[in-house]
Amino acid sequence: MNEIKDITKRDVDFAKWYTDVVTKANLVDYSSVKGSMIICPYGYAIWEQMQNVLDRMFKETGHENVQMPMFIPESLLNVEKDHVAGFAPEVAWVTHGGKDKLEERLCVRPTSEVLFCDYYKKIIKSYRDLPKLYNQWCTIVRWEKATRPFLRSREILWQEGHTMHATSKEALEETIKMLHVYEDFQKNYLAIPVLVGKKTDKEKFAGAEASYSLEAMMYDGVALQNGTSHYFGNGFAKAFGIEFLNKENKLETPYQTSWGVTTRMIGALIMVHGDDHGLVIPPKIAPTKVVIIPIGTTSEVEEATNNLIATLKANDISYKVDNSNKTPGYKFADAEVKGYPARIEIGPRDLSEGLVTIVRRDTLEKVRVPKDEIVSSLTTIFDNMQHDMYEKALKRRDSMIYDAKTYEEFTEIATTKPGFIKTNWCGDVACENKIKDDFSMKSRCLIEDEEITGPCVCCGKTAKYRLYFGRQY
Ligand SMILES: [Zn+2]
Repeated sequence: MNEIKDITKRDVDFAKWYTDVVTKANLVDYSSVKGSMIICPYGYAIWEQMQNVLDRMFKETGHENVQMPMFIPESLLNVEKDHVAGFAPEVAWVTHGGKDKLEERLCVRPTSEVLFCDYYKKIIKSYRDLPKLYNQWCTIVRWEKATRPFLRSREILWQEGHTMHATSKEALEETIKMLHVYEDFQKNYLAIPVLVGKKTDKEKFAGAEASYSLEAMMYDGVALQNGTSHYFGNGFAKAFGIEFLNKENKLETPYQTSWGVTTRMIGALIMVHGDDHGLVIPPKIAPTKVVIIPIGTTSEVEEATNNLIATLKANDISYKVDNSNKTPGYKFADAEVKGYPARIEIGPRDLSEGLVTIVRRDTLEKVRVPKDEIVSSLTTIFDNMQHDMYEKALKRRDSMIYDAKTYEEFTEIATTKPGFIKTNWCGDVACENKIKDDFSMKSRCLIEDEEITGPCVCCGKTAKYRLYFGRQY
């Protein structure tokens, strides 16, 4: 590994800074498989933390985990026309099994709506079988041309929830409920502020009636879609012939949702909170909350280290000890690049006064605290850090959201300032397309509870919506 210090400055070259951070923090490595990355232990540990919290939230809202096949026969993928049209360009195909050519080729799942529908057709017969609330943790494959660690990859690690309901009302409620589960997770665990809204028809998911998304803004003002929740109506269910007997013994078609988040959230975590020293991980999601760095090898240092380990264990605070033969300076830099919320330096000088030094990662603020007050000091630091990181990200994001009332204003902002632009929009896709063509800005989402403040930013006709635009990862 190169010198940790050689991270490109974030404000000099953000793209290069990002690559430096993901490699120097040892989150990912490149593999011989083009377009696919290796998620290294530390990167995977962050994903496991995310999984643990989300999995608990899914189960608390009544969902169960299942595992579907990873291959989809071509005929099954073709059942729902809009869906297949949306995914066909980026699907990978299996044509041979061993030496034999397959009678029907199989695609590697790009998402699993059709697999779930095929299964639901088999197990949903009566209103008593509803709702079905399933989730799966898996990888999917989309044959992307350009790839970037965590942001765009051919193989994506994610979760996908797929549910079936007796009524459209229930399915819509589920769609919104899961959207808010994601919002809760991203705000309160990842400390990432998100815009939560509805996608325009142009940007909605292939085959969905309505798509909702969480839109985060990265440090450089570029948007990252950080999760989606879709309402399908009963289009898929009809295409697949799924029917159930209602209480009056009449056949009805159920209503469906799907929702998902991916390891992109790790990309967002890096790009919202990281700084010139590397990652900054919010304490509530950090796989290792504390790194202990003993300075010197005296028996006092060793004893204090062992006592501290026992204290952290007893208080269920995750930690690691850096006992490598590197210099303290190297270890400090390594702790910073990995973004551990706190590092504790145990050295002879502090110990002679009964103290240790704690360094808080987001502010790099140092405090010397009595050995027997470490737990309460850490608790305070973690609470403040979690809170301050969200507030800081929110302040930065809000300072980069602009309001454009006319096309001239839009042009001025879009060509001079990074960030999101909020507009009034008539609802006509022609206006949305014009902005996309002129500025390479896609619509992010409609914010339904925001008041309309004027005519359409593009054509000047009466506006129906508040629509946010932004460039995207
Ligand atoms: Zn318009």
